[in-house]
Amino acid sequence: MPDDRLDRCNTFGLPSRADRLVVARTEQALVGQLRRMASHEPLTVLGGGSNVVLRARLPGTVLLVRTRGMRLEVASDERVLLTAAAGERWHDLVRYSLGQGLGGLENLALIPGSAGAAPIQNIGAYGVELADRLVGLRAFDRASGKICRFDRTACAFGYRDSVFKSGAPGRYVILDVTLGLSTRPLLETGYPELRAELVAMGRVTPSPVDVAEAVVRVRRRKLPDPRRFGNAGSFFKNPIVTADAARRLRQANPGLVMHETPDGNMKLAAAQLIDRCGWKGRRQGAAGVWPRHALVLVNFGGAHAPDLLRLAEEIRRDVHARFGVDLVFEAQVLGQD
Ligand SMILES: Cc1cc2nc3c(=O)[nH]c(=O)nc-3n(C[C@H](O)[C@H](O)[C@H](O)COP(=O)(O)OP(=O)(O)OC[C@H]3O[C@@H](n4cnc5c(N)ncnc54)[C@H](O)[C@@H]3O)c2cc1C
Repeated sequence: MPDDRLDRCNTFGLPSRADRLVVARTEQALVGQLRRMASHEPLTVLGGGSNVVLRARLPGTVLLVRTRGMRLEVASDERVLLTAAAGERWHDLVRYSLGQGLGGLENLALIPGSAGAAPIQNIGAYGVELADRLVGLRAFDRASGKICRFDRTACAFGYRDSVFKSGAPGRYVILDVTLGLSTRPLLETGYPELRAELVAMGRVTPSPVDVAEAVVRVRRRKLPDPRRFGNAGSFFKNPIVTADAARRLRQANPGLVMHETPDGNMKLAAAQLIDRCGWKGRRQGAAGVWPRHALVLVNFGGAHAPDLLRLAEEIRRDVHARFGVDLVFEAQVLGQD
């Protein structure tokens, strides 16, 4: 039986305990454990713990998914399917695919966490989302006790959202994911920071490996390394408002960054809103806002979940007071104090 402390199982480094902690290293063990539990028994599934705020106690069972395995399957001349067990580290998957000469995941390099958690919030970065690459996945359905398959449509992906996160939270435990990759990928280098980095690297016609390298460089510059400064990446989602609301906001606040979404709404940059409220680089005891990225809340050492959540609420309140915009947490708050 492993230690029931979760301090090292979450990238915020928050002190937390599970009533019962189980580590599953094979799919057989994972499914066996799930089958032995009634569907209503409290269960928290954790991969890398890089998108959660853990309160002091997680009731019931915490299941750490540490399953391993990747396999390639040639689908056509240019297209290859990569299937990875849920417990594989996401960045290892990216590196493995690039090493096999396959493109498609380069923009998603260096995102912490596991392959199995990637569909939960439809991870995305630098113009690419998991939804653009996912072909399907297998999951254990706690309601029926059966293993089922999801194609991309059934995952109901949205911006940092999926059926697993908001449609039927907690019902499915993802066992593996299958991604569609290419030997002749179309590169997505439209993001200004990414383009500038490629220019600085002298890559006029970059390869997928070059794009991944540029992404890694930009991320290392901007984001705190969780091994030194506890964090969960972006704490808030970028808010989406109607085109009318966006027009009014821009009139009252010249220079606000916004991008049109496919359905005609406008996505605002939460980091800019937080920055304009003066929060970038501010600290409240052990919790604070990262000086180089206003979306990232940091545990500078010794913070507990309530410290971070108090800070997050104050930021939300200020952004609402100044812009009338509601910020929504991207990270998931789990457990009890
Ligand atoms: C420095 C840093 C940078 C980041 N950058 C990005 C980024 O650019 N883009 C982005 O989208 N995210 C980013 N994140 C957030 C995070 O890395 C991703 O959301 C990642 O997919 C979380 O994976 P995880 O294994 O750590 O999930 P966890 O934090 O362990 O879990 C997250 C949620 O998924 C559930 N879950 C986990 N595994 C499974 C499973 N097998 N089946 C069912 N449910 C499961 C958990 O119950 C929980 O609700 C960043 C985080 C950090 C710390």
